[in-house]
Amino acid sequence: MSFESLGLAPALLRALSEAGYETPTPIQAAAIPVVLAGQDIMAAAQTGTGKTAAFALPLLQKLAGDDRGEGRRPIRALVLTPTRELAAQVQENLRDYGKYVRLSSTVIFGGVGMGNQLNALRRGVDVVVATPGRLIDHMQQRSIDLSKVEVLILDEADRMLDMGFLPALKRILAAVPRQRQTLLFSATFAPEIKALAQQFMREPKEISV
Ligand code: AMP
Repeated sequence: MSFESLGLAPALLRALSEAGYETPTPIQAAAIPVVLAGQDIMAAAQTGTGKTAAFALPLLQKLAGDDRGEGRRPIRALVLTPTRELAAQVQENLRDYGKYVRLSSTVIFGGVGMGNQLNALRRGVDVVVATPGRLIDHMQQRSIDLSKVEVLILDEADRMLDMGFLPALKRILAAVPRQRQTLLFSATFAPEIKALAQQFMREPKEISV
């Protein structure tokens, strides 16, 4: 099994080889082709399994294959994470894997001023990685437009629910288009996670590794 055989583009393969990745992890091998094909997925995967690359690589490829060129760009993908540490790490990975792809990303989380986040949003970004609470703050002050989101990713969904983010998640889900691809990652498929998937996803393919 190789990253090439999963259908990834040369720009991503180059970044992966520079990062020293030789073979896909099981979650990457299972998820990448399904995400590239446009299907929703519900994946059971713990931290350390390579789950970030399992969604980041096909996401970058999908967005890059449909380059909007220069100028003001709408937010086309939203990644939600339970903590700011995870949000920062996901964005770092997106930057790393996407270093030969022309896409921009920014990270939005609480506990810091709004200024830099507002500036980044005003300039326009393709991908936003956010924690739910601060994202809601931006939605309330209308500093973010989620109406063009094509791909929504819920990372560590079980932890987001444990932290009481269900009401925030529902508000965010109501603000993104119905017509979209949704990728959900969770350590477990607890009943609440299944209920969330049933309500907000379209026939997700279940992947467990
Ligand atoms: P994650 O589960 O996404 O937090 O990733 C765990 C760690 O594995 C991170 O440090 C990644 O950089 C690394 N990693 C992810 N995929 C691979 C791979 N295919 N080969 C080598 N390292 C990887």
